[in-house]
Amino acid sequence: MAEERAVFDCEAAERVVAEVRESYNSGKTRRYEWRVEQVKNLLKLVDENQREMIDTVHSDFSKPEFEAFAHEIALLKNSCKLALKELRRWMTPEKVKTSITTFPSSAAIVPEPLGVVLIISAWNYPFLLSLDPVVGAIAAGNAVVLKPSEISPATSSLMAKLVGKYLDTSAVKVIEGATSETSALLEQKWDKIFYTGSGRVGRIVMAAAAKHLTPVVLELGGKSPVVVDSQINLQVACRRIIAGKWGCNNGQACIAPDYIITTKGFAPKLVETLKQELERFYGKNPMETKDLSRIVNANHFARLSKLLDDDKVSGKIVHGGERDKAKLQITPTLLLDVPRDSLIMTEEIFGPLLPILTVDKVEDSFEVVNSGTKPLAAYLFTNNKRLKDQFVACISAGGVAINDTTLHLTVSTLPFGGVGDSGMGSYHGKFSFDAFSHKKAVLYRSFTGDAPMRYPPYTKGKLRI
Ligand code: NAD
Repeated sequence: MAEERAVFDCEAAERVVAEVRESYNSGKTRRYEWRVEQVKNLLKLVDENQREMIDTVHSDFSKPEFEAFAHEIALLKNSCKLALKELRRWMTPEKVKTSITTFPSSAAIVPEPLGVVLIISAWNYPFLLSLDPVVGAIAAGNAVVLKPSEISPATSSLMAKLVGKYLDTSAVKVIEGATSETSALLEQKWDKIFYTGSGRVGRIVMAAAAKHLTPVVLELGGKSPVVVDSQINLQVACRRIIAGKWGCNNGQACIAPDYIITTKGFAPKLVETLKQELERFYGKNPMETKDLSRIVNANHFARLSKLLDDDKVSGKIVHGGERDKAKLQITPTLLLDVPRDSLIMTEEIFGPLLPILTVDKVEDSFEVVNSGTKPLAAYLFTNNKRLKDQFVACISAGGVAINDTTLHLTVSTLPFGGVGDSGMGSYHGKFSFDAFSHKKAVLYRSFTGDAPMRYPPYTKGKLRI
């Protein structure tokens, strides 16, 4: 019989926060040695349990082994290794110039931990989206409570078990659960909340944080466009669009291409090449392939079905569209010339459907993108330098990749985060350390150079500065 979990209510949440706060207040998490030890243990956790982690994500939504390895394991290990290599430097106060008014003096920006932080994560990259922020939080010297997503339950449970085994549980805790557990946690006072998920819940998180003046990082989603010009290597472009869409959890990824915009004249060639490459990757019957994740659950399957069953997109499918409710599978699907007011164009798709909009001139795509909410990622395929410059200058998005999709996320020197409706704040690499640190301004003075000027009486002569 499955073990019943104790009720996790507000009182239980209060106890958890009190325990980790006591640990934080003891000062141990601030020490360089503790931080390094914890990040090393996290790396060990991944090294020693890689096989089980990959199998567990597979059991949650049939994530292909390669994707689990490349997108969860490898990225997580890289984060740990980078933090271990750079931590001393990240922690070192940054000396800055001072002004004439403080002469003689020196000044520094001193990073200090924020305290006790809450990390709430999404289901779709369950290890990475949970543990990658934990690397930043620990490296920055905080105590952490992590709430993984209940939608990938096997991963959530394995994470709770492994964190309990490898990390210092007085300062790093996993609380499993869904809305009621998260709500109990959100009632508490935190020093930062780092949330990954939908904008709907992001608003709930931010409202709860506001009660305690708690700062938030919100890593949300949105509709990430791909603009395709005709001056391109079409085969490479199509492969990279497919890798970023269906090769990322079968489209269930926050920065997966959500829709394509291309010119009317180029659309037939683009569709044809996408179809050819899709067949090359997933075979003639993609229902049979092992290289696509399934839809995570029946609710998401129903949500995606609704997008396809919308009258406004009737007759628009030009490839795929097969569904198997029992197996929770939907094949890679292309739709051409869908109306901009259809459901598929007004909601984040987060699945294997890819609508293609057409415009007269490629520059017209800018208006289409900018008329929507700001996306988490925006992509452009072109060899035209002027178009690249215009795209970077005119399109507001969390991140941009030119002639590729999704890979900007792997560059640790780039901040990863949204803007506007796609979120606020960022992380990855040093940005993760910064996300969980306060930059304390420190001015050092001696007792020399005491200017009488600043003290009363404020005579007229003192106005001539
Ligand atoms: P979700 O918003 O449903 O859930 C996210 C977290 O919030 C989960 O831990 C869940 O338990 C909790 N939650 C759900 N309802 C809640 C409520 N009423 N009150 C308090 N907590 C609640 O998101 P999801 O389905 O896991 O993920 C999909 C969304 O996340 C998409 O919009 C996607 O674009 C976005 N996303 C963003 C990123 C990013 O890095 N920016 C990464 C992955 C996913």
